[in-house]
Amino acid sequence: KAKDEGRNNFQYYNSTLTELAFERVVMEASLRAALKNEEFIVYYQAQVNGDTDTIIGMEALVRWQHPTMGLVSPAKFIPLAESTGLIVELDRYVMKTAMTQISKWYEEGLNPGVLAMNLAVKQLQKEDCIEVFQELVKVTQCRPEWLALEVTEGKIMTHPEKAIVILQKISDLGIELSVDDFGTGYSSLAYLKRLPIDKLKIDQAFIRDLPDDEEDAGITKAVIALAKSLNLKVIAEGVETQVQRDFLVENGCENIQGYFYSKPIPSDEFENILRNGF
Ligand code: C2E
Ligand code: MG
Ligand code: MG
Ligand code: MG
Repeated sequence: KAKDEGRNNFQYYNSTLTELAFERVVMEASLRAALKNEEFIVYYQAQVNGDTDTIIGMEALVRWQHPTMGLVSPAKFIPLAESTGLIVELDRYVMKTAMTQISKWYEEGLNPGVLAMNLAVKQLQKEDCIEVFQELVKVTQCRPEWLALEVTEGKIMTHPEKAIVILQKISDLGIELSVDDFGTGYSSLAYLKRLPIDKLKIDQAFIRDLPDDEEDAGITKAVIALAKSLNLKVIAEGVETQVQRDFLVENGCENIQGYFYSKPIPSDEFENILRNGF
């Protein structure tokens, strides 16, 4: 297409592509270096029972503390980490860090609830995936019931048959499984019924304009009803206001995650909430 539009355009596209490829190579090299230099840090965001305002757990969310760029959001580097395969090592690092942390909190007599961690599908496809979990649980002295894994709906549904097999093994370890970003990934209800999952996480896109947007309100209520009828727990993410919280709780979704309670924060700040409340 660029060619029909004349030479200049063609050159323009061409050099943009080269720049993108260059940027990618540079980014990939710095991701590798960052793993080696331990520049990744884990933030924690509270998951709360919106009825009682008590913490039921937290989600571990990675950030990149870059020496010159500052704190880089995962949206900027997770896709590249996924396409290069570095995500496997990164996720293992995040899991080990977060699991060590929650184990320490329990040991200190705090009640942090369940630790939810995001899992790239690449990790699930690794043959040693289960052994890696078992080993991590052992070395960090975590109990499986303290742990939950979040896998995005879109990614489960890319290879649902494969996903069912491996998710079943994780579930057999006693680890809770959540479908992340639910509502955005074209789930087949037939597969949803067969997946060994425990929880649906309503995507923040449906929460943002609650309760005024009638369609979003309708979708949210439908997902809550779907979860109940499949005997699944349900949690809403991206809850920023009290009206959103109230709407969800009134409609049967008492599990809430979002800025309304807390942004993702470093471990010391999270510990402060565990000790002193919000
Ligand atoms: P996610 O798993 O769906 O995580 C929720 C995202 O929503 C987080 O973005 C969180 O900071 C943000 N969020 C939470 N509450 C609110 C709110 O009230 N308002 C708004 N506007 N946003 C809210 P974050 O931390 O930038 O992470 C983005 C995505 O990156 C995550 O989406 C997850 O898919 C991925 N990710 C993050 N950490 C990891 C990791 O360690 N491993 C893997 N594989 N993926 C990760
Ligand atoms: Mg998540
Ligand atoms: Mg999500
Ligand atoms: Mg998301």
